[in-house]
Amino acid sequence: MRLIILGPPGAGKGTQSSQIVDKYNVAHISTGDILRENIANGTELGKKAKSYMDEGKLVPDEIILGLMEDKLTSDEAKDGFLLDGFPRNTLQAVSLDAMLDKNDMKIDKVININVDPEVLISRATSRRVCPECGETYNLLSKAPKVDGICDNDGAELIIRSDDTKETVSKRINVYNEQTKPLIDYYKAQGTLFDVDGSKSIDDVTDEIFKGIKS
Ligand code: ADP
Ligand code: ADP
Repeated sequence: MRLIILGPPGAGKGTQSSQIVDKYNVAHISTGDILRENIANGTELGKKAKSYMDEGKLVPDEIILGLMEDKLTSDEAKDGFLLDGFPRNTLQAVSLDAMLDKNDMKIDKVININVDPEVLISRATSRRVCPECGETYNLLSKAPKVDGICDNDGAELIIRSDDTKETVSKRINVYNEQTKPLIDYYKAQGTLFDVDGSKSIDDVTDEIFKGIKS
């Protein structure tokens, strides 16, 4: 199974991805997670990406495409994958199709999560993440058992540096201008289905599982 999850910042892509990869046993390939890991480890890639991310802009395509070419042909991806945060513009989508063609692969389904902009800002600004295991929490909808502490490993939760109200608004604009056109791109390929992301986390998961099966 090869899947893509699309949706604006804060829609719940990461949250739903965890459920999907558990059920379908595929690799979760999140460009945002890979970039943040590189920043945390102080790599050259991380140094190049950080300023773009902090400004809510897309990281240049050549950086992302080089990274994805390696990922898609890696051992990790051989039994299927879920792409989260990629592709993010038309050039990335066309390049992905070329990479898939070259390797005799195709995308089975594209999950498109819809959520209103006001809800997105509230979700992203109340998001907290574990720097150790990557688990995502939310002060309003998915609080940890102990305030500020990860349920899984006891690490202190952090706020992503791009989760300020101002940067989230910018990221939503970037989404509307550059990523939203991909909905029509994948509709034309006949692989996309829509999900109402304003429901509870579990209800959204159920809708996604139904969509993947159909
Ligand atoms: P994305 O990866 O699309 O940016 P996340 O999965 O990180 O989004 O979710 C953004 C925030 O909203 C997180 O704090 C998450 O816990 C919370 N969240 C995700 N899905 C829902 C939902 N259906 N209802 C309420 N809160 C949610
Ligand atoms: P969200 O979906 O909540 O906006 P992500 O973790 O997917 O968050 O992305 C965070 C940031 O990482 C983006 O604002 C962007 O700067 C960068 N990024 C992630 N994926 C890509 C991509 N495919 N192309 C360009 N930049 C990306």
